[in-house]
Amino acid sequence: MKLVFATHNTNKFTEVKALVPQHFQLLSLTDIQCFDEIEETGATLEENARIKADYVTKHYGLPCFADDTGLLVDALKGAPGVYTARYAGLQKSADDNMEKLLRDLGNNENRNAHFKTVIALNLDKERYLFQGVVEGSITSRQMGEGGFGYDPIFKPLGFDRTFAELPLATKNEISHRGRAMTKLLQYLTSLKL
Ligand code: IMP
Repeated sequence: MKLVFATHNTNKFTEVKALVPQHFQLLSLTDIQCFDEIEETGATLEENARIKADYVTKHYGLPCFADDTGLLVDALKGAPGVYTARYAGLQKSADDNMEKLLRDLGNNENRNAHFKTVIALNLDKERYLFQGVVEGSITSRQMGEGGFGYDPIFKPLGFDRTFAELPLATKNEISHRGRAMTKLLQYLTSLKL
């Protein structure tokens, strides 16, 4: 059965493809020749994941899943949240985003934050949501060279290093996306097709 993962990101796609059960033919947006700018106009991560999955199912008639991720900082009342990718502007620069976050947080002692990934799946006329969360805290400066996005300023709970300092395998095991993907994959694997 064909199943679309609504992403153009080849790294994300290759990682997930290796884990999806063989009876699914996993296709990316590039594979189905979908180059439309799907506007993420939702007020929540759930809505944005839904918008992407529904767009593909509606316009291409295919089962599809889509993910959306946000960083939610307690002292900033859940910001940047749904604006995580474009917190410092539409240029979506990771450095600008981190600088703005550190500036907005200032010397606040409450540095608690979590990453959340939501995956929306459309399959056989049914709609599902899967969620993964990792709790942690925002450091006072960037540390580490690995990862991407906000990794250099996010320290997962129980670790004394940032995501950018931890091995990728460790990050994938405990990360928001890893946890949400595990739930999706467990569900797909349980299906008798
Ligand atoms: P997306 O929904 O996967 O595009 O993620 C939205 C934004 O969240 C990205 O542009 C990144 O800035 C940030 N982000 C998502 N996942 C991670 C992560 O694992 N580490 C750090 N930042 C992330």
